[in-house]
Amino acid sequence: MTEEFTQSKLDRCISCGYCLPACPTYQLTGAEESSPRGRITLMRAVQEDRMPKQNLLAESSFCLGCRACEPVCPAGVEYGVLLEEMREMVWQGKNRPLLVRGLLALVKTRWRVRLIGLFSPTGRRRNANANLHLMLGCFERSLFPKVSRTLHQIAPEVSITRKQGCCGALHAHNGELKLGTEMAEKLGQDLNGTILTTAGGCAVHLTSVLGRDRVREFSEWWTSKSMTLRPIERDGVRLRVGFQDSCHLRNGLGIYKEPRTILKQIGDYIEIPNASGCCGAAGSYAILQKANSRKVIAPKVDAIRGLNLDYIATVNPGCTRQLAKELKRAGIKTKVVHISELISRAIS
Ligand code: SF4
Ligand code: SF4
Repeated sequence: MTEEFTQSKLDRCISCGYCLPACPTYQLTGAEESSPRGRITLMRAVQEDRMPKQNLLAESSFCLGCRACEPVCPAGVEYGVLLEEMREMVWQGKNRPLLVRGLLALVKTRWRVRLIGLFSPTGRRRNANANLHLMLGCFERSLFPKVSRTLHQIAPEVSITRKQGCCGALHAHNGELKLGTEMAEKLGQDLNGTILTTAGGCAVHLTSVLGRDRVREFSEWWTSKSMTLRPIERDGVRLRVGFQDSCHLRNGLGIYKEPRTILKQIGDYIEIPNASGCCGAAGSYAILQKANSRKVIAPKVDAIRGLNLDYIATVNPGCTRQLAKELKRAGIKTKVVHISELISRAIS
């Protein structure tokens, strides 16, 4: 036996199939091998030397890594960990897509991450609470620098330093588990005390390495402040706001009530059908599996079309990018913003 996977984690699966209806890739194909249970069966076959590990490549790539299979599993299977192990095993050498290699190299060191954000002015450096630091993120600081600028404005107690790299989530999810863990540890050394992050995926990865006490996701943290917000209105009518969950945040840390609590104060909150379901962004998935990513989000876009929303709030940059791109393509006018940007309008 090769012992590539943690055996105790494989053993947990009792093959009950409760996870199948929750899995977006199983919903797309109806094929057993594209379900969580089917993928675990493939992992077992490799572990027991009944199948070459190369046969895992297709399913390790097709899986979104959304972890929707975890909360519904009665046996507590940690599918997300098994997927990281599977990609660590298979996504090596020429099996690792060129684009992923480029992305991982780009955010590997602190100076490269700083370079990414050089032309995107983020929240200004500030020494406030020495035990509460904002994580600027790697791609968020370049794609959505307004998020950290908003935090600078609405959360004066938070310290902001430029001397920070990437948390390593991208690496951990794309076949570089060991490096991803080391990067999170390094970030934990660079930022004392609590790390506040505006990205759901980063919150979950950092938590898995540094522990729950060291990490706060923004909506979770804001809710704990119990601050009253003023509704945002247009012509005396509350704006219509929806929300898209971050899969990792919801399925990995169980955070989904907090953003909704905030949005119900701010506007006329409308729950988007299947808001808890993956939007198809899934880290590098929207780039690597473009066609499947678009198939995953298509029913969501159709549902949003009929809701006449002014805003959709998100808690993860990948979701912001994916929804904004697909709504624009569909000609839907709804704006997609990080939840902090709506809060800033509700307190100004
Ligand atoms: S992963 Fe969980 S829900 Fe899915 S088949 Fe295995 S035990 Fe059942
Ligand atoms: S992580 Fe998502 S896509 Fe992958 S098996 Fe689980 S539910 Fe399906």
